[in-house]
Amino acid sequence: MKQNNDQVRPAALMAQSECCRAKSLACSVSQYIMPDFMALALQEAEAAAARGEVPVGAVLVSSSGDILACAGNQTEADADPTAHAEILALRTAARLRGTPRLPDCDLYVTLEPCAMCAAALSFARLRRVIFGAYDPKGGAVDHGPRFFTQPTCHHAPETIGGIEAETASALLRRFFEERR
Ligand SMILES: [Zn+2]
Repeated sequence: MKQNNDQVRPAALMAQSECCRAKSLACSVSQYIMPDFMALALQEAEAAAARGEVPVGAVLVSSSGDILACAGNQTEADADPTAHAEILALRTAARLRGTPRLPDCDLYVTLEPCAMCAAALSFARLRRVIFGAYDPKGGAVDHGPRFFTQPTCHHAPETIGGIEAETASALLRRFFEERR
């Protein structure tokens, strides 16, 4: 007699439950609207702060609303200067999909991406980048190099900035104040 084997789960579901470990938010994603994805990214940022990392969080979502990856900054823990939330989320999602290009995907990130991350998001052919706080000092979307507007940038995702910006920048402010 065959048993109903609930240990066999599709990869996407595994990634969802993994990214939602220790999170109270349910991950039946289809009901999410944009602010909920940003709320999840903010949770990742808070978790990063608790680990002593600069509080930036990112969530990568497919056009059908599936969460492919959630990540917070991890540069200290990994001793890796490239371990920004955006890069980690891209890597996880691309590995999950088995392709370096994610043209149907959107990234929600709590802070304006830096030049490195903007380049990576362009390489991944992302559909849309939704970010929280603007970053006049290190941002590269609406500040500094404005990466996506350069002639050397071959794919520019649609960008939307300032979503939940107050919460995201308050987190960053508190983090750096506590370290002074
Ligand atoms: Zn970055």
